[in-house]
Amino acid sequence: MRRISNSTQPVSRYPYYLWAARALPHVLFARATSKTCFGFGQMEPFFRDRIGIEFGGPSPIFTRTRLIPVYPISRRVDQCNFSKDVIWASTRESVVAEAASPSGLKDESYEFVLASHVLEHLANPLRALMEWKRILRLGGAVLVVVPHKAGTFDHRRPFSTFSHIEEDYRRNVTEADLTHLPEVLELHDLALDPGAGMMEQFRERCLMNASVRAMHHHVFSPDLLVHMFDYAGMDVLNVAVERPYHIIVLAQTLSPTVDRTQTKNPNILKADAEWRKKAPFLCEPNQTMPCSHLSFDDLFSSGRCLSQ
Ligand SMILES: [Zn+2]
Repeated sequence: MRRISNSTQPVSRYPYYLWAARALPHVLFARATSKTCFGFGQMEPFFRDRIGIEFGGPSPIFTRTRLIPVYPISRRVDQCNFSKDVIWASTRESVVAEAASPSGLKDESYEFVLASHVLEHLANPLRALMEWKRILRLGGAVLVVVPHKAGTFDHRRPFSTFSHIEEDYRRNVTEADLTHLPEVLELHDLALDPGAGMMEQFRERCLMNASVRAMHHHVFSPDLLVHMFDYAGMDVLNVAVERPYHIIVLAQTLSPTVDRTQTKNPNILKADAEWRKKAPFLCEPNQTMPCSHLSFDDLFSSGRCLSQ
């Protein structure tokens, strides 16, 4: 097992600055050209002039000139956070509720749901998808954005498995769950997370996770997300993987009478699916490589976790 770094050991920021320097040209180019994510044209009708709700927002990625400019084209986006005191709280119409159990929200009350970099912070992400489907009208869409580990401090951690995510759902795991704490403390790359401080500060923050919700419980691959939406009875319409670290998935609710064998999900999971060819990171079907045997420099130089 990898030894957890000493709590008083200084953390070198060199890897973070290197990462930022490598990512900056891509980010600046995307801003300068108002680049949208792969497949946004196909996604746009689900948001244009429609009313939705965002969990854990608002999020810059949904603003004008960013990868998924939903805010400028939608009629209204309500905001839902687990507390009214979150530092990113907005003045938009807001709701206070848990993302994975928003029981106060009525069935079939929205046309779309947004969640950017939220699902990895939830102990029970499958329950969240089920709840988000419940509050959507038939034909409505869920758009989730999660980090691809190859571009973040999670790069040493293994991808979570669907069987584990399903078990969390069956056990009705709550936000107090700390099952993944030992793995996070062992494999989190503090050098790529300047806001986390030294190991002791990071450990204390993780132990308070039920209050601060900063810990990444699970590590998602695009394929895992597709399997989760399939389990939730939704049809995945688009997958995009974008620098510096975004996995973007759009899924639509299905009528209970629709033949589930006719969904687009098997095509999305094919090894030659178009989205895989556009992805800047390795996104093979059933990818299980933990990357834990690679140093950060290896990640950039070998192309095993990051294509060049
Ligand atoms: Zn779990």
